[in-house]
Amino acid sequence: MNSNNNYNNDSSSEDDLQVYETLTKIAPANELLPRKLTIDIDVKSLYPLKPLPKFCKTYTTFFEESSQRECLIPDIQVSDENRTLLDYYEENKQNLVYKRFDQLDLGKRTSNDRTYFASLLANFKRTQPRVFFRGEALFDQKLTPCTSEQIQFDSNFESGNLFCAFKKAENIYDLVIQNDINTRGNTQWFFFSVTGAKAGQTIQFNILNHLKTGSLFNEGLQPAVYSVKENQLVGTEWCRDGFNISYFKSIFMKEYPLSLKKKYYQLRFHYTFKHEGDKVYFAHSYPYTYTNLLEFLNTQLEDQERNQYLSRKVLCTTLGGNTCEVLTITSNSLQKRAFRKGVVFLARQHPGEPQGSYVMQGIIEFLTSNNPQAEYLRQNCIFKIFPMMNSDGVVNGNYRCGLEGSDLNRRWKKPNKYLHPSVYYAKKYVKGFSKERQILLVVDLHGHSRKQSSFVYGCAYSSQVKTIERVFALLMSKVNPFMDYSSCTFRVESAKDKTARIQLWRELKINWVYTYECSFYGQQKKHYQIKDYLNCGVSICNALSQIVKDTTKEFTNQANQPDIQQQMLEELGKMPQTDDQDIGSDSSQSEAELSDDELVQLFQPKTYSIKQKNLSKQQETNNKKKIQQPNSNQKSTIASQKASVLQESPTKNQEQKPPMSSQKPKNPLYRIQAPQRNRQLDQVKQVEPPLMVDKSVQTDDWIYRQWLIQMGKLKKQQEFQSITPTRNIYKSSSQSVTRFIVKNSTMKNDRGRVDSISLMASGLQNKLISSSQQRQMMRYSGSNFMS
Ligand SMILES: [Zn+2]
Repeated sequence: MNSNNNYNNDSSSEDDLQVYETLTKIAPANELLPRKLTIDIDVKSLYPLKPLPKFCKTYTTFFEESSQRECLIPDIQVSDENRTLLDYYEENKQNLVYKRFDQLDLGKRTSNDRTYFASLLANFKRTQPRVFFRGEALFDQKLTPCTSEQIQFDSNFESGNLFCAFKKAENIYDLVIQNDINTRGNTQWFFFSVTGAKAGQTIQFNILNHLKTGSLFNEGLQPAVYSVKENQLVGTEWCRDGFNISYFKSIFMKEYPLSLKKKYYQLRFHYTFKHEGDKVYFAHSYPYTYTNLLEFLNTQLEDQERNQYLSRKVLCTTLGGNTCEVLTITSNSLQKRAFRKGVVFLARQHPGEPQGSYVMQGIIEFLTSNNPQAEYLRQNCIFKIFPMMNSDGVVNGNYRCGLEGSDLNRRWKKPNKYLHPSVYYAKKYVKGFSKERQILLVVDLHGHSRKQSSFVYGCAYSSQVKTIERVFALLMSKVNPFMDYSSCTFRVESAKDKTARIQLWRELKINWVYTYECSFYGQQKKHYQIKDYLNCGVSICNALSQIVKDTTKEFTNQANQPDIQQQMLEELGKMPQTDDQDIGSDSSQSEAELSDDELVQLFQPKTYSIKQKNLSKQQETNNKKKIQQPNSNQKSTIASQKASVLQESPTKNQEQKPPMSSQKPKNPLYRIQAPQRNRQLDQVKQVEPPLMVDKSVQTDDWIYRQWLIQMGKLKKQQEFQSITPTRNIYKSSSQSVTRFIVKNSTMKNDRGRVDSISLMASGLQNKLISSSQQRQMMRYSGSNFMS
């Protein structure tokens, strides 16, 4: 222990020393690192899946794609004819060469058919979900194999998505991709394999039913391709290949809503097979499956060097029966643990955006490495990582939704415990974590299908005044050659109100909450490779280490260093005014979601709420009593079922946030008045210690914190008060205040810091000024309130 020095000039170190000494004698309440670390790989899918080859053994064998490609948008007359994919099937059923499940009877239509051509409906009313296609249970149907054909398609593997294929002409195949489970659309992600082509044979693939109206495929993006033979011979892994690529309006109408007569979009590409008897995989981007994640986590958890900083926990079980993991990464030293800042990373809310997983893998690999910067971060931060929020969607080959058929990143306002368990528990967990310590940064990782480069969406009250919310984004773009600050936007759009980003920013008052988007393509017309995505993750950590101040060192050591936040704010002030127009938003189309009536038929309202159960029982008995009026009774039962399926679970803190003002006042300080008042209110509420934290979200840190509180009460209370009158270990924001005071009393030569110190000190003396107000003041004085 470096005790003596600390003892003399830093009283808080003295406290910590005593705490540390006691801690080493008492076993922690909760075992920080459980011995059984690895995860059993148990992937549950809605239908049987074949194993995939081991992709990506190394990340270094990619070659740069340098050949010039031409983008020809074919001159196709988009007629006004109202043809759907089902009509196409009727005309071409003799040419059908592949359907995802042999049992599928694509032509089958019942009189009251509520399904859509490429939709599988999964019914969760039983313990084992059953999958239905056009009203028929999928695996009960009679086997009707496709005509044998030289070229064979397959998509019955994890993350696979190809619904059926038709041979249109020699070497031309029309493909239909599958709707997200329990939706009428959301088709964009594709992942399938082709076998049986001859060496040198060129095939044209037409994917007929894409959702999005624009695509990077017209700007030079090529499909991701993996050739098994090529891998065996040369070691080439996933690369970008294919030529004559174009993306244009399809002649086929979306089946829903039919009345709007909206068209699908079609992707056309050509590929020349290099080897005889090869199996070639094609995908929208380099796939990253749930199995890949669990295997990666196991390599980390088995590594003696890495697993000392890493612990895992099952957050919840998803609808499909898979687990949602939550990881904690921090230094296992207990020193100054209470002062560590919280950092939260999320990935794969959208299953068809595998880039997020590679960035996440880069983050985890870096944070558990023996890199000194990583060690620095571990000593000063506690990382909570949700590596795959939508494992069900990833397993079953969805693009955007979970198995219940809704976009998880639009469910953060009031997630339903039963329908969106990973969002419900992650939100609860992050809320509990924020009560425990100050959360400095939240990053939600995504992929973007229309813009190049990587960039963030942030939250800010103003699109013109450069406030603290932009600082970390600018810093990230400075350390990351793959990030483009000019593409970043900082808006609180009403359309994205229910995203993780906006909800966490609103509810937890965290300045740095970002949606980090990585392009499916790359930048400057060069494709991103897997290692580039990994490097993006490392860069996020690099930027973080520049902004996190070391709590284990003397404050005097860092006082002379230039303040990076100040620098960033000054630089932002010099930047030209922009209006943050988000060109080519990547938001989803909610029209693909099932209607309330359809949802009620698929999800048992009684399975997740005892209260609702009793309520509907009561209603049922009431209804039985009123047999005289059967019609109205039936209606009310359906209505109550609907209400109970669709009712969003109530959150504990149902405090109403004032709606965002649509008017933009000119004075930036005025603009932040409303939330500031809110923060003050919160401050008053927080006076009670966090003993009220829900037990299910208790973490190791929470228990440690509770123990610290007891220690403080027993031994140090009076001393604490005499030295630092407002020392309060519940409020992380006041920690910095304490340290500033300590520094002020021990430091004499540091004039550069005096202003901010005196500002903090005066803020302290006036108890009416909350720490959040100090934060606001710091924003404009440009000081490092987050030291
Ligand atoms: Zn996304």
